[in-house]
Amino acid sequence: MEKKGLLIVVSGPSGAGKGTVLAHTASKYPNLKYSVSVTTRAPRDKEVDGVNYFFKTEEEFQAMKKDGEFLECKSVYGKSYGTPRFYVEKQLGEGYDVVLEIDTEGALEVKNVYPDCVMVFISPAKRSTIEERLRNRSTESEEQIKLRTQSALKELKQAVFYDYIVVNEDAQQGADDIISIIQAEKCKVKNNKKFIDDLILGGK
Ligand code: 5GP
Repeated sequence: MEKKGLLIVVSGPSGAGKGTVLAHTASKYPNLKYSVSVTTRAPRDKEVDGVNYFFKTEEEFQAMKKDGEFLECKSVYGKSYGTPRFYVEKQLGEGYDVVLEIDTEGALEVKNVYPDCVMVFISPAKRSTIEERLRNRSTESEEQIKLRTQSALKELKQAVFYDYIVVNEDAQQGADDIISIIQAEKCKVKNNKKFIDDLILGGK
């Protein structure tokens, strides 16, 4: 089989449980590399610089943007977020599968640059779960909870532009679903053209 990394773009409303599902996915599927984004929002308790995000000032962020360091960048919930281009290109080139956890606008932009990327939307089973989860995790101010629950409907409407939807009722099951998606994508004929050519030409 070809050693070509797959780019997986994951989005979903705040409180959908994307982080938990992806943490389970990474622990079950070691070939997956998580792209650490750059943000100007403040770190939450237990978040580590360089692990959850690269935390930057707005000036630093704008300088990176000017230097073309982002594959895409967007303002989300009033703060700046961007995907570092270098890391993504390097890991894909080395044959790793790379996951981006980004908002729906950024995701559609990535799809333009990488039309072969796989777009996965993580959704809660019920809309009311969004606010419940945001309140239970106690990481957001009241103002942020309002902003994020209000934005949820707009984000849910974007799900139709994605290739797959994973309903997060159980994070382990959600991770298994994402791994199944990756495996199915890897078996697609369009992702194995070189392998087939080599078989036909007797190169293998
Ligand atoms: P949070 O502040 O909860 O970590 O993330 C807020 C939103 O920003 C989430 O929807 C998350 O997917 C999105 N996000 C995180 N990193 C990036 C990025 O690099 N680019 C874009 N466009 N969105 C991002």
